[in-house]
Amino acid sequence: MGDVHWRELYHEVVDTGLCTGCAACVMACPRDVLGYTDDSYPLQIGEGMGHDECVIGDRGCDVCTRACPRFRAWETELDTELFGRVREPDEVYGVARSVLLARTTDAAIAEVGQDGGLVSSLLVWGLQEGLIDGALTSRIDDTTRGPFDAAPTVVTTREEVLASAGSRYTYAANPLAMAEAEERGLRQLALVGMSCQASINGSLPARGVNKYARRIALTLGLLCSKTFTYDGQREVLAEHGIDVADVVKINIKGVFQVWTRDGGYQEIPLKRFHPHTRPGCQLCPDFAAEHADISCGGIGAEGDWTLAVVRTQRGEDWMRGVVDAGLVEVRPGESDPVAMDLLVKLSRISRKRWPADTLPDEHRAPALLPVVP
Ligand SMILES: Cc1cc2nc3c(=O)[nH]c(=O)nc-3n(C[C@H](O)[C@H](O)[C@H](O)COP(=O)(O)OP(=O)(O)OC[C@H]3O[C@@H](n4cnc5c(N)ncnc54)[C@H](O)[C@@H]3O)c2cc1C
Repeated sequence: MGDVHWRELYHEVVDTGLCTGCAACVMACPRDVLGYTDDSYPLQIGEGMGHDECVIGDRGCDVCTRACPRFRAWETELDTELFGRVREPDEVYGVARSVLLARTTDAAIAEVGQDGGLVSSLLVWGLQEGLIDGALTSRIDDTTRGPFDAAPTVVTTREEVLASAGSRYTYAANPLAMAEAEERGLRQLALVGMSCQASINGSLPARGVNKYARRIALTLGLLCSKTFTYDGQREVLAEHGIDVADVVKINIKGVFQVWTRDGGYQEIPLKRFHPHTRPGCQLCPDFAAEHADISCGGIGAEGDWTLAVVRTQRGEDWMRGVVDAGLVEVRPGESDPVAMDLLVKLSRISRKRWPADTLPDEHRAPALLPVVP
């Protein structure tokens, strides 16, 4: 990318609030000059350097800017890399080969899966078939900020996939788990990540971060409107008499649904959580994980199906694989018009968040493509 380095990334993405905290830059930094804050932002950890300084960058290293899925004309570059063209204005949820509803046939996965257990089924099948050695995903972490938090992790067995299934609504920068995967010598990986993290599926190959582009065999994106701060989520739960240590499952279906250890269940209006939106999500325009191989969400009318937007050839191959293996059953997305409408509506809402005028003039226009209103 020529003469743009951490300084430009810091001023144009981190400092403007466009940074989602996906941690692609931290993952890709070849000299470990970038660290990651508790608030999920990249930061310069080199001794004696200012926030925007990087001595390695000054010598010509630009890997962080290349890995970043929000830098400059990212959307057109990522679209072109993955789909061979930029999206049309009416492709509101991104370029798609098909939209399906999918459900696991494996009772143990169905038990722990957030919706239809599609994500876990794909991981289990990929491990069984030797297509991947492991997956970068998220586990429940009770040790850092408190109970029922999310943290990046590496899974390599069916048991570990099942133990990490389900959704946590705090943020885990799953690309950070790449460091552990490298240490363990894992070569082919699936990446499970929020929509922002799934975008590295496009930024890495588009801008030649080949070491990591080659290692990611499949990217499963999770549809996402926002995540919440850990303290905010805990505060609202406490206001409703729920100790976060007692939570066993959370889901969002128009309302915030909470299941507790004693078999209890409560619904809390979602608007109570909005003030606790994690800052990195406020300007994110990507609801539908638009650059994943397969994007997965829970907006189906029936809770035990995962909505799957299949976007790439390898996404299609993996879907065919789990279906042919009898591990997943599918039906057309159109069989659930409510889900299809929500997919369009929520994608449109998120795309309105993008503040084009935060970019320098020369990079403003192409960063995000317009959509049909
Ligand atoms: C924070 C968050 C917000 C979401 N928002 C929406 C939404 O607005 N609309 C919608 O339709 N769907 C949303 N989803 C996706 C939905 O909750 C399911 O993850 C999706 O439908 C897949 O279901 P499944 O049963 O196939 O997944 P499962 O088989 O249960 O697998 C889920 C995978 O997600 C990983 N994971 C869990 N929590 C996190 C986390 N915090 N960060 C990164 N990875 C995680 C797990 O480790 C696991 O690998 C959201 C998910 C998360 C985590």
